[in-house]
Amino acid sequence: MACMHTQPAQRIFEPPKVPVFCVCEMPYNPDKFMVQCDQCTEWYHPECLKTSRKALKSQSNWRCPECVRIAQLAAGAGTAAAGHVAAAAARDGVDAKAQQHGKQDKRRKTAD
Ligand SMILES: [Zn+2]
Ligand SMILES: [Zn+2]
Repeated sequence: MACMHTQPAQRIFEPPKVPVFCVCEMPYNPDKFMVQCDQCTEWYHPECLKTSRKALKSQSNWRCPECVRIAQLAAGAGTAAAGHVAAAAARDGVDAKAQQHGKQDKRRKTAD
């Protein structure tokens, strides 16, 4: 005979919500170096991106592969080649683009 007064058991399992980072979805580990994406502010392990800490440090405004991909897609909407240049320029500090434009914008100030 079952009691009619049974209450629903409050056994809702709540997993501890730990923020996870990187493509490996690991919680923060102080022993592991991570780099923050300038675009989406996500943190990543260099080794998970198949790159090195040194390579990342050389870039002041590092963006994760996902953000780079999105940027390239957006930039490459017209021509893939142009998008590639734009992405490279954005990463390297617009030098590549400036050089390209510089060729055309070179106005000679000739004193007549
Ligand atoms: Zn990772
Ligand atoms: Zn990102």
